[in-house]
Amino acid sequence: LLCEEGRILAVGPSGEVLAAAGGRRPELETDCGGQCLVPGLVDPHTHLCFAETREEEFVLRMQGTPYLEILSRGGGILSSVRAVRAASQADLEAATLGRLRSALSLGTTTVEIKSGYGLDTDSELKMLRAIHGAAGQTPQDIVATFMGGHAVPPEHRQDPEAYVSLLVEEMIPAVARTGLARFCDVFCEQGVFSPAQTRRILLAAREAGMGLKVHADEVHDLGGAALAAELGAVSAEHLLAAGDAGLQAMAAAGVMAVLLPGTALCLRKPYARARAMMDLGVPVALATDCNPGSCYCESMPLAFALAVLNMHMTVEEALVAATLNAAYAIGTAHRVGSLEPGKQADFLLLDGRSPAILAYHTGVSPVTAVYKRGERVA
Ligand SMILES: [Zn+2]
Repeated sequence: LLCEEGRILAVGPSGEVLAAAGGRRPELETDCGGQCLVPGLVDPHTHLCFAETREEEFVLRMQGTPYLEILSRGGGILSSVRAVRAASQADLEAATLGRLRSALSLGTTTVEIKSGYGLDTDSELKMLRAIHGAAGQTPQDIVATFMGGHAVPPEHRQDPEAYVSLLVEEMIPAVARTGLARFCDVFCEQGVFSPAQTRRILLAAREAGMGLKVHADEVHDLGGAALAAELGAVSAEHLLAAGDAGLQAMAAAGVMAVLLPGTALCLRKPYARARAMMDLGVPVALATDCNPGSCYCESMPLAFALAVLNMHMTVEEALVAATLNAAYAIGTAHRVGSLEPGKQADFLLLDGRSPAILAYHTGVSPVTAVYKRGERVA
């Protein structure tokens, strides 16, 4: 692999690569010692900007306490909302940066981060500014997504439609003015946002120039996958309950399925039907879903391993899903996600003979070196 000014100039057998250098000796040569070299991992779905972990709630959940009871005891997503609203931008930024550094050490060189624990205009903007602040202090490429449509905040519990109007009329225009979010995402689910409300929010976001994403058909098949296809979303996420009709619509429209096997693991739920999706022609990407509630995990190697072990994806399919397809899902496939001349020199060395080591050496990270734009960063 030959890099120049952070980009890949040539990749392949040594003879061909040196020929591409046109007789010049590279300034720096690194012998990778027979390790496996793969593209930097891309995590296209995280909520890793949050203020406080929820360990006590995890223990209750493991003991079988129903989510509604956890909510009534002050837990659940609304506890994350309280914590983010109370946190300073600097504290949020520091917490986000710590998780990004951990992800970097595990091989993640490009990360999407969603807002969605503020749920009012100022707190959502605070989250997006914290995400951008953290992005400036890490070598990773960060893509921010506005997710004011993550939950209905307590002050609008009696009138969710008023919150949808706030999103459409105030929050989305405010976020668009700052240019702090590239995408807008909505949690389309029973008891959260209906398909009609999701459509209203996403149409406003599209109008404001944002790309679209949908948390779709995670628990119930409400038609979120089909809605993502109809609105031209770049991706639909979760999809545990998505039926064939929705998946076929996604295939026809070229919508990426972003699957989150770590969440299935941590919630003790069945895994998404990755094989059925691929058979229907839906492209599949993998992500961690790193968040303080359902899955506190920033490890793409774990998502990769679960895809192979429990979703029956091949190693090659999992590799494409964790790199190039993941990059596509956040609009960065032209720059990152594969080892091709012209792309950013983002790559990893793995302590193994093939990418299979990511699944085979279970529960540990085989990542021994991380390079971003040609520089070793971890
Ligand atoms: Zn999510």
